[in-house]
Amino acid sequence: MIEVEPTGESGGHCDCCGQQTRAVWGYVNEDQGTVASYFMQWTVGASLETHPANLDLIYGRWGDGASSADRCAVSLLHFENENGPSVMVIDAKNRPIATSSLISKAMTRDEVIGTDVAQHAFAIFDAVITQDKRLT
Ligand SMILES: [Zn+2]
Repeated sequence: MIEVEPTGESGGHCDCCGQQTRAVWGYVNEDQGTVASYFMQWTVGASLETHPANLDLIYGRWGDGASSADRCAVSLLHFENENGPSVMVIDAKNRPIATSSLISKAMTRDEVIGTDVAQHAFAIFDAVITQDKRLT
């Protein structure tokens, strides 16, 4: 059971077209505690076909006794093509989150695809989309 806990948010403007962008973040909690923090960024009013949304995760244990050594960056891209909207794993090392002091490693797509981490990240994506009302 995944519970999404929204916290902060900010706004900005798209580098390519100047449209308004939004970023929201929060924590992802499960029975055993926090399992990730998330950062969702998208361009307001733009199609996912031209402006895919980014979901960056600081994935791993948080809280007492946990450190950056317990966490890595995992990045997803929410995009749309002729088959409809979909989500894929991308290289976290190309994302701003890669330089965060809260992680010890930024995962590449190849390191994540086909692993339990990928399945978990997709489940987290679904939970964030469903539960964070700022995304609708
Ligand atoms: Zn743009």
